Amino acid sequence: MNYRLLTLILALGCYTLGSPAADIDKIQLPDMGDSSGALISPAQEKELGEAFFRNLHSQAVINHDMEIQQYIQSIGHQLSAHSYAPGNPFYFFVVMDPDINAFAGPGGFIGVNSGLILLTESESELASVLAHEIAHVTQRHLYRSFEEVNRLSIPTIAATLAAILLSSQNPNAGQAALMAVQAGSVQFQINFTREHEKEADRVGMSTLYDSNFDPRSMPIFFERMSQSTRFYGQGVPEFLRTHPMSENRVADTRGRAETYPYKQYPDTESYLLTKAKIKAISESDKTALLQHFTLLSQQGAPDQRAAARYGMGLAYADLQQPDAAAAIFAELATQYPNQPQYQAALAKVAADQHNYAKANLIYAKSVASFPHNDAIKIEYIRTLLKSEQAQIALHTLDSLSEPQKNQPFYYELLAEAHAQLHHSAESHRYLAEYYFSTGQTEEAIQQVRLAKQEADLNYPLLAILNERMNFFQTDQDERKSQRGK
Ligand SMILES: [Zn+2]
Repeated sequence: MNYRLLTLILALGCYTLGSPAADIDKIQLPDMGDSSGALISPAQEKELGEAFFRNLHSQAVINHDMEIQQYIQSIGHQLSAHSYAPGNPFYFFVVMDPDINAFAGPGGFIGVNSGLILLTESESELASVLAHEIAHVTQRHLYRSFEEVNRLSIPTIAATLAAILLSSQNPNAGQAALMAVQAGSVQFQINFTREHEKEADRVGMSTLYDSNFDPRSMPIFFERMSQSTRFYGQGVPEFLRTHPMSENRVADTRGRAETYPYKQYPDTESYLLTKAKIKAISESDKTALLQHFTLLSQQGAPDQRAAARYGMGLAYADLQQPDAAAAIFAELATQYPNQPQYQAALAKVAADQHNYAKANLIYAKSVASFPHNDAIKIEYIRTLLKSEQAQIALHTLDSLSEPQKNQPFYYELLAEAHAQLHHSAESHRYLAEYYFSTGQTEEAIQQVRLAKQEADLNYPLLAILNERMNFFQTDQDERKSQRGK
């Protein structure tokens, strides 16, 4: 496959560069306008998006908690289904980073930082940011072209974009971008306009409303982001650097929101639980975490109190008090049998105590109750592997929905299951896919070599390995040749 693109035009979210990455603000990226949209084919955009996402793994902490991932995907797709381009592919994910940021990469890859999620006070506020990013993609806003594109490859562009789109507070990301840019002699210019931001707000708000979220939450959240500078003393949030916010813009957004009829928009329990879980993962002081949720558990509506108790359970588990955690989760699971997170949390406590028989029992029951819930299945698979039940694990892996089957964790679990079953060649094969999907091409090639040396290698597998070796090698060569220029 020839990676080179004759002309590369990218549709991206808007952004500028913060200070550590300011070295690359010489970059020029002419706005080619909407008419250029056709110059990158959907297949090229998909390939670029996937390469971009692989690169992000080496530069940011992508959240792999399945419940969190499942939630962000579901709210994202609820919105994109009502966007101006519902047929466009979209993939949503959470980056574990306290900086307040969200971004849209090529191929519909939309990332949102944990810090931004924790700053939201309602589900509609989170939806308003996602709707804004979706609008940048569907309006194919900032077309970017690279001069001397004949010399550019998808791996190079993907690495550069990954570095630029990440928080400028990560000095390594800025440095990587600079190197990639120099290596490829890339000339592009960061180009955002007030008009694009306005349009993303306008289009985003209509998507927000059509998806049954509160349009008024957009100006409210914009304002909170502006104020967070004062409250948190962290300097200007990345989102505001990349999506400049004037008083005018907030006022415009508020004016537009007021034209929609007023009604109540209650948060889903999944939003509240996701936020509680992200908080539990982010907070390193677990005693403070327990105090935080204990306080919250005494106020608010029943759903909010339940989410706070869930947070208390997570804090107890982190504080090595499994009995206290299990008591809370068991009570919640009985009270809310339709909320799968409580049963999953209960099973996880048992698994963490190495009580795999109990954990597997709860997971098996939950999988039967929620047959389309991949998050529970994946936790079940992990426990099955810990209790040496690789055959059931393989069977459950096979039952996952298709979008999960090119995720890094999927390959990792497959590799482990095959290793337990002494399918050594297969195990190396899937480890290779795991490494490649997380941007570690060198290690992927090494695993293919190891697979080819195994005694259980058969002809069909050899054919697959040879084909993958070619693919990985081409990716590697492209990167090397770009570095050499
Ligand atoms: Zn924007």
